[in-house]
Amino acid sequence: MARVDVAIAGGGIVGLATALKLLERAPGLSVVVLEKEKEVAAHQTGHNSGVIHSGLYYKPGSEKAKTCVEGRRLLVAFCQRHGVPHEICGKLVVATKESELPALAELERRAGENGLSGLRTLAPAEFRKIEPHAAGLRALYVPATGIVDYRAVSAKFAEVIAAAGGRVRTGARVTALSSSESEVRIVAGGEEIEAGLAVNCGGLQSDRLARLDGAEPGLRIVPFRGDYHRLVPDRAGLVKNLIYPVADPRFPFLGVHFTRMIGGGAEAGPNAVPALAREGYTRTSFDLRDAWDTFTYPGFWRMAVRHMGMGLGEIHRSFSKRAFVKALQRLMPDLRGEDLEEGGSGVRAQAMLPDGRLEDDFRIVTHGRAIHVLNAPSPAATASLAIGERIATRVLAMRRD
Ligand SMILES: Cc1cc2nc3c(=O)[nH]c(=O)nc-3n(C[C@H](O)[C@H](O)[C@H](O)COP(=O)(O)OP(=O)(O)OC[C@H]3O[C@@H](n4cnc5c(N)ncnc54)[C@H](O)[C@@H]3O)c2cc1C
Repeated sequence: MARVDVAIAGGGIVGLATALKLLERAPGLSVVVLEKEKEVAAHQTGHNSGVIHSGLYYKPGSEKAKTCVEGRRLLVAFCQRHGVPHEICGKLVVATKESELPALAELERRAGENGLSGLRTLAPAEFRKIEPHAAGLRALYVPATGIVDYRAVSAKFAEVIAAAGGRVRTGARVTALSSSESEVRIVAGGEEIEAGLAVNCGGLQSDRLARLDGAEPGLRIVPFRGDYHRLVPDRAGLVKNLIYPVADPRFPFLGVHFTRMIGGGAEAGPNAVPALAREGYTRTSFDLRDAWDTFTYPGFWRMAVRHMGMGLGEIHRSFSKRAFVKALQRLMPDLRGEDLEEGGSGVRAQAMLPDGRLEDDFRIVTHGRAIHVLNAPSPAATASLAIGERIATRVLAMRRD
């Protein structure tokens, strides 16, 4: 039986960042990342918007706010050091209705409390110098936001882990995980592993991995798919950098936005619709177990009743390109249906509480010798190195106990 100091289930950006930070803090530690897919970053990390978030949105004092600001700094430094292409291009958040102006002002206030500087509120004539095709009443310019390819970041994390003596094993699905007072027994890819400690960074499967360990997570992962459209090449120039609407504060999602991509081109999206498969990337993807888990969860129905109007609107926009384009035209009236072609999609692992509330902050719990990351939604890619740092601190403290 293989023996390691720390085994990490999940080779998304959070699992990889955790391994990287552990090896940085404790060289010589034996660390293995166990990833069920053939490559790292195959799920949320590899299907996201590629935005380096500034830390603008999050409740001051929350883990999201703290780790986003700190993680952005660490991520940019990592990319600079290792030659990962990225750009700090700034973004505009545009209010298109009078009723959104107070929320825009609140964002600016939060940004200040979260330590961001250089923000400016701009009138249309000023914000059009930055984004000539954006329309609205006022916009908040956020200079610290950037773009990157998180698959490329993850691949570089894996390289650095290997160079530091860690292992990233792909094709190694964790099928058993049980922690006692002194160790954790794992079966991955059919092989038994005895680990001093384990960390569950399973993203869309994190609640199930926690249950394998006998921990009752007190929440369920409900998948929300987000579809993207790509701007056709000769219209990609409509978007200079990043243009966002003012997000509905009742939801953790930011609303469909325009994003220039680091590899070239621009995308619009993602919307947010309850998905029938945790790891399915088309509108018709269906997985019986996943759908069952969602529809038998009382919290899902409580949320559905509470947000019926919003939910139906999102589902309509998912199936009707015309409705999707209409939502975007509020931000960019020059956009036409033929400017967009189908893009990819991503599925968010959103932790939902039994009363139907969506868990807003990151949630990381300890059970025996295992640490379970139960909610790491956006901006966890931006924040990954700061989250990894916190988990590494917890792991090293547990090793001393
Ligand atoms: C549509 C969308 C847009 C987003 N946009 C942004 C953005 O612009 N900026 C930003 O900062 N954040 C963004 N996010 C959020 C960000 O992508 C996620 O928070 C982050 O990627 C979470 O990383 P993770 O490692 O926790 O999860 P994942 O990337 O999902 O990784 C979990 C891994 O665990 C593996 N796994 C699961 N079960 C097992 C098992 N039993 N055995 C072995 N391996 C297992 C999976 O295969 C997977 O690779 C977005 C998310 C989505 C979905």
